[in-house]
Amino acid sequence: NKFTDFNLSEEIVKALASLRYEEATEVQAKVIPSALLKKDLVVKSQTGSGKTASFGIPICELVKWEENKPQAIILTPTRELAVQVQEDISNIGRFKRIKATALYGKSPFAKQKLELKQKTHVVVGTPGRVLDHIEKGTLHVDHLDFLVLDEADEMLNMGFIEQVEAIIQKLPKDRVTLTFSATLPEDVENLCYKYMQKPTNIEI
Ligand code: AMP
Repeated sequence: NKFTDFNLSEEIVKALASLRYEEATEVQAKVIPSALLKKDLVVKSQTGSGKTASFGIPICELVKWEENKPQAIILTPTRELAVQVQEDISNIGRFKRIKATALYGKSPFAKQKLELKQKTHVVVGTPGRVLDHIEKGTLHVDHLDFLVLDEADEMLNMGFIEQVEAIIQKLPKDRVTLTFSATLPEDVENLCYKYMQKPTNIEI
């Protein structure tokens, strides 16, 4: 599976080459074509499978640079994962000049607020702080096209269900939702059933 098979724009192909990603991993080969078609997906996959790029590539491909509003939110269970995903998105989107901002707790709110005032296309963060920015009006979600729940099982294990649901309820209904989880316990299944549109299940 070559990345040139996916009909990606030149800027994204160039970024993948500079990251030395040559062949798509299994999860990427399955997720990228469906995500580009804006299908909701529930993906059972482990860390290390290349899952970050499997949502990062279609999001960077479909983000419109000129639109000065966040178009994708990626929720993660930890700040470390948020920072990692933000870096990966920035690398994949570098030749489109896509700006990704990480939002997490125990870090100054005001600094994040200033960052959000600049051009931000993609937001990556932990549920509590992301919800805080939406509620305080420092993160605008009216142009949101993509929601990713990354490591959804971990996120719910850490007790983030209420924040995750409160965020989802504030997002436009006309969006793509992608859920990634190593396991699919009942609480994750319920969340997917409640908030996703006929999702396709992908198991790696
Ligand atoms: P992840 O599962 O997203 O944490 O990715 C695991 C590691 O694989 C990361 O270090 C990525 O940079 C790397 N990676 C992801 N996709 C590819 C690819 N297609 N080719 C080579 N390395 C990759």
